[in-house]
Amino acid sequence: MFKHEKIIPISIPTPFAIGDVNIYLVKGEALTLIDVGPKTEAASAMLKNSLAEHRLTLDDIDQVVLTHHHADHVGLLDEFPDSVKIIGHMYNEPYISQNPDFIKKQSAFFTYLFGQLGVPHHMISSRTVEQSYRLSCRRSLTQTVKENNQIDGLEGWTVLETPGHATSHIVLYHGKSERLIGGDLLLKTSSSNPLLEVPQQGENRPLPLLDYLASINRLSELPLEKIFPGHGGQITGIQELITRRLEKQQNRAEEVYGILSEKPHTAFSICQKLFPTVYEKQLFLTMSETVGQLDYLQACNRIISEEINGIYYYHLR
Ligand SMILES: [Zn+2]
Repeated sequence: MFKHEKIIPISIPTPFAIGDVNIYLVKGEALTLIDVGPKTEAASAMLKNSLAEHRLTLDDIDQVVLTHHHADHVGLLDEFPDSVKIIGHMYNEPYISQNPDFIKKQSAFFTYLFGQLGVPHHMISSRTVEQSYRLSCRRSLTQTVKENNQIDGLEGWTVLETPGHATSHIVLYHGKSERLIGGDLLLKTSSSNPLLEVPQQGENRPLPLLDYLASINRLSELPLEKIFPGHGGQITGIQELITRRLEKQQNRAEEVYGILSEKPHTAFSICQKLFPTVYEKQLFLTMSETVGQLDYLQACNRIISEEINGIYYYHLR
């Protein structure tokens, strides 16, 4: 019988709106930490104190598995000794190493994309990209994993690729105990924003909402009792939560469809209508959400986009 106490949750503070991040210590043949927290002094102190309660230090950790590349999950990697194994999906690499060519490519990509989406020039700045690295790390993966891989020292757990919230996103599934270490795939108290990203392979940008829907639909097919999430409380009643998330997305898509039934719009003008009070401050987040719904309606063959002078206008089919 699988011993549940082998998964030890540690709650680490973050300065982000989402609140604390949950990281997990898994005692198997190796001592594994799933995610590490952001690069802040408060997070560092909390991690060290929590490990000390188990008579452990950073040096005792054999390996870190990353659920995805966001700063609140990876930043503290900088504090680990060089000997620690760092394991994750290959798409983490340019983010966690802060590859300068990649960051340049990212900035250029978003300037171009946001222009096409109708965002006014004065609102586009490379600051958004730079800020996303502020509490991140400069480390490198020592091992990449993909769908269906097992990780040495972490017996019984299987890697599932679950892109959407991030292209680098994976979860760890333990079939015997029907448990999942879920990163930000499904959270109890907030929806996991599918975020726009620069493509790492090929020319076409990822379609984050479509990827996300496919990823959470996969969860429905798994025997699954409990999720250990990246933020918020542990999740049971998983199917109900998935249904709630899907309904919310469906309603948002209909709202966008309703706006487009009046007249054609750019993604930016829809974003302003959906998020009138926050679109300026949270441009990246709200544009990601808007574009996600437009991608979805396009995939459903309900709307099309037309390019006029370099700007895309969406209208009903
Ligand atoms: Zn995240």
